[in-house]
Amino acid sequence: MDKNMLYRSIPKVDLLLEDGTIKQMIAIYGREMIIEAIRVETDALRKYIGQCTSEEAAMEEIALLPKRIEQQAEKLLQPNMKKVINATGTILHTNLGRAPISANHMQHIAEIATGYSNLEYHLAKGKRGERYAHFEELLCKVTGAEAAIAVNNNAAAVMLILSTMAKAGEVLVSRGELVEIGGKFRIPDVMEQSGASLVEVGTTNKTHYADYEKAITEETTALLKVHTSNYRIVGFTETVPIAQLVELGEKYEIPVIEDLGSGVLIDLSKYGITYEPTVQESVASGADVVCFSGDKLLGGPQAGLIVGKKKYIDRMKQNQLMRALRIDKFTASALEVVLKEYLSEERAVKNIPVLQMMTKPLAEITKEARRLKQMLSKLKLDAEIRLEPCQSQIGGGSLPLECIESMAVTIKPLHMTTSELEESMRLLPVPVVARVIHDRIFLDVRTIGTENFGYLKQLQNIERLTTA
Ligand SMILES: *Cc1c(COP(=O)(O)O)cnc(C)c1O
Repeated sequence: MDKNMLYRSIPKVDLLLEDGTIKQMIAIYGREMIIEAIRVETDALRKYIGQCTSEEAAMEEIALLPKRIEQQAEKLLQPNMKKVINATGTILHTNLGRAPISANHMQHIAEIATGYSNLEYHLAKGKRGERYAHFEELLCKVTGAEAAIAVNNNAAAVMLILSTMAKAGEVLVSRGELVEIGGKFRIPDVMEQSGASLVEVGTTNKTHYADYEKAITEETTALLKVHTSNYRIVGFTETVPIAQLVELGEKYEIPVIEDLGSGVLIDLSKYGITYEPTVQESVASGADVVCFSGDKLLGGPQAGLIVGKKKYIDRMKQNQLMRALRIDKFTASALEVVLKEYLSEERAVKNIPVLQMMTKPLAEITKEARRLKQMLSKLKLDAEIRLEPCQSQIGGGSLPLECIESMAVTIKPLHMTTSELEESMRLLPVPVVARVIHDRIFLDVRTIGTENFGYLKQLQNIERLTTA
């Protein structure tokens, strides 16, 4: 076998660029991308020939070069960030993007993003407007607050609040609330960044009204209450309710700030879920400023929402930091359409995916699970498929102890291990992320969504799942 002859048969780059098929590719992908693809594929071809033992196979591979170049160019264009099927049952999965936005809402957001909009333009006055104006009144209406603003995320909200209201002063926080929320958000660290100094009061499990009062000095600029979103201290515990902190704040004329984390706007206990303090309740208790995430239980885009007394919000709008933390047009329009749903609780529960998933009755989930099982059974997979009860979780650092009864389609592969199957599912063109419980794949139907059932047909493309 004459390897030199084979190497010589690989067309040179300038010749390839003159080729009709390649020219067509250049028209689609652009010259630089095709040159890059040619380089990658001719290198791979040389390597292949080097190891190849059959001249025929090598010639075949050389003939395939234009096709490989096109595939390579296609690959270079493929976004790395892609749609994933969340079969984990964790509704607010931070690694999988937290709250999904509904397709209906997205239509409007896409319209805003693909063209020009009145983002910062007051149409009636024909003058510069404010990007927060599109949802400020709405946010005030649904929370009962005087004024509102939004920043990039809730971590940024806490930073802006402290930097505006407590800079160079002392902020009192209960030792039981010095939390770390995933992704390295630690209350003491954020406090340091903002320039405020932290004064810890009470103990890990118990903090009393008197503990706060004792710690108040001339330097105290704020009382901060942090909702311990992602963990619970149970047993011998005591915290000071926001209403009492407000009393203390009024007595000493010190503003009270509450970081609620999740930001629930509806009473979840009506739907069989543990009651979470709502934003309205915190505002009604008299907290001066309340902040919460846009993409946790609110079910909207990533954002940090700040509501409260106008005099404080106005000062935040003037803060230089605001320019660095401001939201973009995608977020502003998403916040507006999602918050509009909260004008009626019924609409919110029906139209916001996170609330929809959380409140869907088990009977309905079970019906959907039967349908999915039937669909998977028809694929004749080399696996045992069952319907099994499971528990969905809220996730995203919200309601850590909450489990919602749910139904899963479970899979036990017969000719590969469960963990091999779990990995193969993650590597599908539209990846399926699932949990492994007792050596079975659990597909929790609550977070998959019936509109995504079709994607699970990809399972038949997993080699060792269909060898029978
Ligand atoms: C989640 C959370 C944050 C951080 O919110 P992001 O929107 O993720 O930045 C801050 N404080 C509390 C109490 C939280 O639960």
